[in-house]
Amino acid sequence: MKRILADRTDLIDASGIRKVFALGATLKDPINFSIGQPDFDVPDELKEEAIKAIKAGQNKYSQTAGDELLKEKIAERVSNEFGWENPAILVTSGVSGGLLLAFMTLINPGDEVIIPDPYFVIYKHLVNMLGGKCVFVDSYPDFELPVEKISEAVTGRTKLILLNSPCNPTGAVYSEEQIKALAKIAAEKDILILTDEIYERFCYDGNCASIVNYYDKTLLLRGFSKSYAMTGWRLGFAAAAEPLRDVIEEMTKIQQYTFVCAPTPFQKAAIAALDYETRDFVDAYRKKRDLIYEGLKGKFELIKPGGAFYAFVKAPAPLEVPAGKKANTGASLLTGQAGSATEFVEKAIAKGVLIIPGNVFSEKDTHFRISYATSNKKIKQGIEILRGLA
Ligand code: PMP
Repeated sequence: MKRILADRTDLIDASGIRKVFALGATLKDPINFSIGQPDFDVPDELKEEAIKAIKAGQNKYSQTAGDELLKEKIAERVSNEFGWENPAILVTSGVSGGLLLAFMTLINPGDEVIIPDPYFVIYKHLVNMLGGKCVFVDSYPDFELPVEKISEAVTGRTKLILLNSPCNPTGAVYSEEQIKALAKIAAEKDILILTDEIYERFCYDGNCASIVNYYDKTLLLRGFSKSYAMTGWRLGFAAAAEPLRDVIEEMTKIQQYTFVCAPTPFQKAAIAALDYETRDFVDAYRKKRDLIYEGLKGKFELIKPGGAFYAFVKAPAPLEVPAGKKANTGASLLTGQAGSATEFVEKAIAKGVLIIPGNVFSEKDTHFRISYATSNKKIKQGIEILRGLA
């Protein structure tokens, strides 16, 4: 039979996470450290706003770029925060929608995109799908912004540098100094920055610095999914100052022929969300961060995460295999090599703890990601089991 699938489908490999989910589905009441979404629910007041909008008949398409009131409010917020005058705004179907539109707008085949490694998994696949070339810049072992290495990675084909702070999967928050240094390099070399700030509210040790403050050729993507636990509502936005107004306009054109608009009733609720105080959630998540860090350090090698709700932990070195005996890798469900993080992940899953192997988010397979967006009870149980495996 003629091949029916387009070649680009080969460029996406979602197997790592899917296998963890599939294995998890067979477990009864697992400790689920695999999910990238908050464990609290959308606050009732915001649910009421969405219900009100639906009942009031706000169920049709909105403007392509988004509900006027919501756009105005977002514009006011980013202007106050960054001193932007009359910013360009596009309401997107989640930050994922914003990323696809941004990459479609910016990346020509062969264009290079610099991405600190580890990275949020969809960057790589979207860039590849559009014919771009990912240039990974290693940020191990401390996961700080590798400014020098980024500078060295710039070539004549570099189109974009991606920033994600707080970072998924490491929980790293880049320092003001590092961000300023990167802004300087980007300005000197005249390269665009895309900053994915979906976790900006989940910042535990002071404020998270934003490169928007230091470089006006920055495309800002932020979202509602994580801050208000509305991952299923599919809401985010893209914003830019004057130098990138055209980028937002072209993204809007592509939205018109793809997503059409973000979900209208939820856009109405998002207007209220922007006024909703999330401090209690963040305080609760800071405690979870402390629990996981204090529980694992000593036994595992890990950097204290400053934000988001992830820890990126080094898998323990495997026990020495006595000479003449082969390591037992035969039953490897996730095709983990002997001694790889994937092999450790398999052991953890067998004990009922779902974690994600680091190679889903990285060119290396040495770490695993924990999402601690779960109950404190489960976190404590999970820590005990993981410590027993170290
Ligand atoms: N960026 C990062 C860094 C993320 O972790 C996620 C969600 N896991 C997204 C973007 C996409 O989120 P959404 O599409 O729900 O806004």
